Amino acid sequence: MTRRFELDELIRSDNFIDGRWTPASHGARFAVTDPATGNTIAQVADSSEADARAATDAAARAFPGWRDTLPKERAAILRRWHDLIVANQETLGALISLEQGKPLAEGRGEVAYGASYVAWFAEEATRIYGDIIPQQQRGKRMMAVKEPIGIVAAITPWNFPLAMIARKIAPALATGCTVVAKPAEDTPLTASALVMLAHEAGVPAGVLNLITASREHAVATVADWLHDARVRKITFTGSTAVGKYLARESAETLKKLSLELGGNAPFIVFDDADLDAAVTGLLASKFRNGGQTCVCPNRVYVQAGVYERFAALLGERVAALKVAPATDPDAQIGPMINTRAVDKIARHVDDALTHGARIVTGGKRLTELGPHYYAPTVLADAKPNMLLNAEETFGPVVPLFRFESEAEAVAAANNTSFGLASYFYSENAKRIDRVSQALEAGIVGINEGAVASEAAPFGGVKDSGYGREGSRYGLDDYLSIKYLCQGNLA
Ligand code: NAP
Repeated sequence: MTRRFELDELIRSDNFIDGRWTPASHGARFAVTDPATGNTIAQVADSSEADARAATDAAARAFPGWRDTLPKERAAILRRWHDLIVANQETLGALISLEQGKPLAEGRGEVAYGASYVAWFAEEATRIYGDIIPQQQRGKRMMAVKEPIGIVAAITPWNFPLAMIARKIAPALATGCTVVAKPAEDTPLTASALVMLAHEAGVPAGVLNLITASREHAVATVADWLHDARVRKITFTGSTAVGKYLARESAETLKKLSLELGGNAPFIVFDDADLDAAVTGLLASKFRNGGQTCVCPNRVYVQAGVYERFAALLGERVAALKVAPATDPDAQIGPMINTRAVDKIARHVDDALTHGARIVTGGKRLTELGPHYYAPTVLADAKPNMLLNAEETFGPVVPLFRFESEAEAVAAANNTSFGLASYFYSENAKRIDRVSQALEAGIVGINEGAVASEAAPFGGVKDSGYGREGSRYGLDDYLSIKYLCQGNLA
């Protein structure tokens, strides 16, 4: 029977290195707080370079043994890990909501989403094929085989504290890599719980190591991995600025990098769109996690013929969204992660209003609920000179830009350094073909707002990074190709 844990059993406050829970070497700790109340949930290990080094040492010792396990043995462990995650869905979902603030239903949904990657890569582990290259010379046999790249450092953000780390650890373990990981300061508890379940599932000591660190100590701690030649790969999800820093700083040891970075997703509604479907799709993609997702639409372009009708329909649905703490079963939007986040949203809205935007609904902090709440907002008459056009707002704000022609919409959508997700709604088959090809993005939602799936390649272009997570391509980032040339056979 797959074991179920109570919440207090899942809350871990130490690092997990070489199969043991150990405090940070200097004994330091930092507080993890509930974003709804500001109350402290736990005091967790505040690591230093020495802890990062100890994690790498453990991962290096464990690598040869793990690399040599049979793929089906690794698959069986991943499958058990998946089953444990699913069996503990309620408790893990509650833990996500507690430290990150998303409504309970979304917390549970994130657990299922994260677990789906573990199941997927459990299956993919047994399908890492190479090639026998057609013979080019007599007496010579040429083959390409795939090998695990080595130690992988995984660094993850706070917005999906379970899914982001699961979809890095699962492919790494599936390929035979060992892992050192650091979750975000705001949400280390879910990651620790996940690692505890991996250990319970039979991941051997040293194969998966996790250290936690405060924002203050994250830079020096992670730098140890960036400069350590034994760490062969960095897989990072987070902001573009930090992704570029990691690439620069690790260049001396020429690591393979996967960078899942920020977005500034356009969402285009053409005159010929099914407007109800477009409103529903926009609500689903924009307001998940209170708008704190990398793929959520940041700029909504609506063609002039349907602009006012779309704004009215959307405004009505957005005004009805329930904002409440995660613990309220009817909550649809929870608190933002921290003060910095809610301040940025307020700054973007204030700037838009100064530059002529019009509030359709929302447009204010909800201080009566707590310090980190912001009302779901729709702003009409958005213009390119507004801050929210250039930067990710990362909150529940929809700016509506008006456009006349398809060419104008595509040019505006692509007029950004980012290229993660994009969306458009149209019922015209030729336009669908043209616009899907013209959008500069790693992901295009066509008449669809919910695009993420473990079976699909997730990732961006331009300043949104490189590498793909999930799908049959998702293992490639953790493998290197070795060419074997055998001669003297004739
Ligand atoms: P972030 O500030 O870049 O942080 C991400 C991770 O990097 C955290 O663990 C953070 O630790 C760590 N970190 C920050 N500065 C560092 C440094 N100088 N050296 C080493 N580690 C460092 O991003 P965030 O605010 O947590 O997440 C939001 C961003 O992630 C948004 O831009 C969003 O679009 C992006 N995102 C992208 C995807 C995708 O798949 N493309 C998915 C989700 C989110 P601390 O927490 O201690 O600062």
